[in-house]
Amino acid sequence: MRYRSTRDVDSAQKLTFEQALFEGLAPDGGLYIPEAIPQVPLSKILSWANLSYSELALEIFRLYIDESEISVSDLADIVERSYATFTHKDITPLVKLPNVASEEENARSHHNLENLYVLELFHGPTCAFKDVALQFVGNAFEYFLKRRNQNKASPSDRDHRITVVGATSGDTGGAAIYGLRGKENVSVFILHPKGRISPVQEQQMTSVLDDNVFNIAVEGSFDDCQDIVKALFSDLDFKKRFQLGAVNSINWARIMAQITYYFYSYFALLKAKGVPLDTASYAVLTKIRFSVPTGNFGDILAGYFALRMGLPIDRLIIATNENDILHRFLETGSYTKPTTTCPVSGDLVRATLSPAMDILISSNFERLLWYLANGDGRTPAESPDAQAASEAIREWMSTLKSTGGFSVPETVLERARQVFDSVCVSNADTTDAIKRYYHHQYSQALDQDQLSNPTLPAGARSSYVLDPHTAVGVVAAERILLSDASIGSAAAVNVVCLSTASPGKFPEAVLTAINESVPTESTQLGFVPVEYRDIAPQVLVDLEGLPKRCIFVETEGGNKAVGEKAIRHILEEKVGAGFV
Ligand SMILES: *Cc1c(COP(=O)(O)O)cnc(C)c1O
Repeated sequence: MRYRSTRDVDSAQKLTFEQALFEGLAPDGGLYIPEAIPQVPLSKILSWANLSYSELALEIFRLYIDESEISVSDLADIVERSYATFTHKDITPLVKLPNVASEEENARSHHNLENLYVLELFHGPTCAFKDVALQFVGNAFEYFLKRRNQNKASPSDRDHRITVVGATSGDTGGAAIYGLRGKENVSVFILHPKGRISPVQEQQMTSVLDDNVFNIAVEGSFDDCQDIVKALFSDLDFKKRFQLGAVNSINWARIMAQITYYFYSYFALLKAKGVPLDTASYAVLTKIRFSVPTGNFGDILAGYFALRMGLPIDRLIIATNENDILHRFLETGSYTKPTTTCPVSGDLVRATLSPAMDILISSNFERLLWYLANGDGRTPAESPDAQAASEAIREWMSTLKSTGGFSVPETVLERARQVFDSVCVSNADTTDAIKRYYHHQYSQALDQDQLSNPTLPAGARSSYVLDPHTAVGVVAAERILLSDASIGSAAAVNVVCLSTASPGKFPEAVLTAINESVPTESTQLGFVPVEYRDIAPQVLVDLEGLPKRCIFVETEGGNKAVGEKAIRHILEEKVGAGFV
């Protein structure tokens, strides 16, 4: 398998998986896509149904990484180690949500909310979904560097190394640090805006004391951090000298790693429903849709690849918060940055309760656009329209840059609508969902036995604590299940909502939703306010009081040039000696 840039799929530039992993972004500004999407027949897919998570990941990754690059046994070892850090035996368990619909809603919708599930993607080290990909990416970097060093011309040559530099507003930095900590020949420098990330995220990142991890708190905003990182990457001499690398969400390896859980949850759902796993039963398989809380379009793009590989996904739901560029695109065919500033952030980006989805544009959307522009899109290598699609991408992206938006032809929009729905969810509806799913256990209709039994088996839960990102996905799914006229009683439609973070990671929003404006019923039935330790996994609770290490960079009141100079100095001092 080779990889090509969305902006020039015809170019002679074809990268191996290893090259695509280390390069991240293509030099022409495009994103790497595989030259063909592997097609997996249904019989083959169903033969994977009883594999463990790691075994399944191995099957899928093998389709995207040639054996000449990583042998099967080496890949199996990398995959195994990547998921050994997860605390749940299923890695990404599927949990049935309680049906919180009113009697009237249930009657009208044929009890559709009985078919609502969450896929918990937060059992990795940082309690958010980015771990699923970044645990693998860290091991893959280490693997390739080790091999490059073995193949060095002479033992006196310098080691091949990589210096990962990134800016974070919270989740990405943490997942990168936990993915790269302690990896040989890898150093990681993560900039965050001092005092402007959540206390949990700050604790999580700065309490990692490995020698190769450097947290840098910059006086300024997230954008200042981002600008400093961009400045370093655009200094090509500096970039080359330090072998700068990025692990942001446009990295192909991250998308690939996320494909696994779509397959895995598909099987988990069929098993939960008692559907026999053979092709003969396929005709009666229930329909499965995924609802994905979306920011940079990386998570849901993996679902699109799963679908194009042959997994019988019915539809994909793009769930956005008030940063709704993707929702507006699906409505109008126009992909346009907002023009008015947010009263809270004072910026074009809205400050919402789901901050990991607070984006202006979705960096991975370009990949989907290429497939939409190319029509059948399966084979950049062979399709006669492939280069025309790249031309369209170049034109759209340059219009986006110069005017802040572009529109696609009706045919392209139609292709998007054949696969995707979109729903935009407000802050108020996010809070309301967290409240409803928690307080459901106190609804009068529930059996009192359930209340006194807090350890109900999965599938029989009477309440569920949603994090605000997951809540966005759940509200989107509810809207579709309760209103889409095409969902009748005959063909049950199941929706799996991707749960991207543990509620303990965003406790302010969760505790406010649960503890304020408490429903009267709950109070009557003995509700006691919920505390942080009730909703946080042990790893997060244990962070408190751990020693921390962080370098503070002053910018003399927001002067980025001063900040950049200081960061260069830090890199030089900490790892400069390792490079020529
Ligand atoms: C990163 C993130 C998202 C958004 O994922 P994309 O791949 O950028 O769409 C959603 N929720 C959480 C908690 C995240 O960390």
